[in-house]
Amino acid sequence: MVSYSALVNKQREFYLSGATLDLAGRKKRIETFKKLLVENKKAIDDAIFADIRRHPTVMSDVDMTLGEIELTLKNMDEWVKPKKFVTPKDAQYDPASDELHLVPEPLGVVLIISPWNAPLICSSALIQAFAAGNTVILKPSELDPTFAPLFANIAPKYFDEKEFAVVEGGIPETTELLKERFDHILYTGCPPVAKIIMTAAAKHLTPVTLELGGKNPVFVDESADLSLLAKGIVGAKIFNAGQACICTDYILCTPAMKPKVISTLKAAFDALGDMSKVPANARIINDRHFKRLMGLLKDTKGKVVYKAGGETDEKDRFIPFHLLEVDSADDILLQEEIFGPILPVMIVPSFDAALNHIKRNEKPLAAYIFTENKEQTKRFVRETSSGGVTVNGSCAHTGGGLPFGGVGNSGMGRLMGKYAFDMFTHEKPICVRNSLKADFAY
Ligand code: NAD
Repeated sequence: MVSYSALVNKQREFYLSGATLDLAGRKKRIETFKKLLVENKKAIDDAIFADIRRHPTVMSDVDMTLGEIELTLKNMDEWVKPKKFVTPKDAQYDPASDELHLVPEPLGVVLIISPWNAPLICSSALIQAFAAGNTVILKPSELDPTFAPLFANIAPKYFDEKEFAVVEGGIPETTELLKERFDHILYTGCPPVAKIIMTAAAKHLTPVTLELGGKNPVFVDESADLSLLAKGIVGAKIFNAGQACICTDYILCTPAMKPKVISTLKAAFDALGDMSKVPANARIINDRHFKRLMGLLKDTKGKVVYKAGGETDEKDRFIPFHLLEVDSADDILLQEEIFGPILPVMIVPSFDAALNHIKRNEKPLAAYIFTENKEQTKRFVRETSSGGVTVNGSCAHTGGGLPFGGVGNSGMGRLMGKYAFDMFTHEKPICVRNSLKADFAY
């Protein structure tokens, strides 16, 4: 098994030389990454399509990362500025001679471990790691067998491995990599593997950011605008064939709403026709996940109340959207993250019972409510805990400059723009005595 010590040491030496501190150098690394993306856009788009069958017209990982780059280049002069504090006059300080500062400093060598379903956009955090003055080792998912080698092949054409390196591999290689000491690890994936990552990080007291998944609930109130429900569920379940961390995982509604929810979703998916005939529609990532999803359909005690157009096809790894009615929270469909085009509906007696169910289960990455009731919206947001909430839609709380991340079992730490920059930064408090008028600007 290959050892990663030499690579990590090389990056650490580069960091320790102070070469990553220079602001112009940080910007150059980001510009170089932009060049890499622009010059290889077609090859990257094609690789992602080959692996996930997600067409760039549906969502472009490259364009989204370029957006993050523009935002960072526009704002990083401000982000890296040390803050000067007003010195109080008290027993400890004298404003005539004492200066108080908060100086952002990079952490060092950052490891980013990506999932297969967002091979590049999850790695847009590496832009923030560069902006903060770190070096980066990226480990793409082995479940993207076209993207991972392509990216590992492109990266050295643009970067010396002392500043940015891509390491390919699955579990054995990642296990070996995790023996090294990093200064921060960003892992995106599932909670069981996150525990392995955190245990390895603990040996070196390395801080971690964990971007995980979970069972994202949807409550449909009797006041809900059902056209919004149709739009929200179709959008979430069609995108990546439901293989997204913020996908709607299960529906809770009262008995009165059940027939309305079923007929609304039935009409919405019927209108799409046979999705197996749409080439840009993502397929299940691999045979293991295909079998896992078929196993869920076999083992559930729930009843299929609707199956969308198209036939299940093992060779093409296509599963049409399935809507099921499930009686008990013990059912397998209510136990593990579905991550596919299957949606269970569970009847609850009331809104309070729905809140109770959500509160007593692991904190999800996202929670959704469809309602026209303001008071209920307030209670849902205040009384349940989740990474984020969209009201009357799905997945919409993940843009607009808002931070993105989970809580509890769905993760820790926040991504996007300045939030990710702060994650890869230590803000160091400084007191300078004797009126030095020190300047710490990069
Ligand atoms: P995964 O955990 O199987 O794999 C993610 C990464 O972890 C891969 O690079 C893989 O090589 C590595 N890995 C897997 N097993 C390992 C082990 N035993 N030791 C060390 N490394 C290991 O996750 P996945 O199947 O790629 O992605 C699906 C999960 O990711 C879902 O739970 C989904 O909700 C979550 N996800 C979360 C986000 C987010 O931003 N919160 C985004 C995308 C996916």
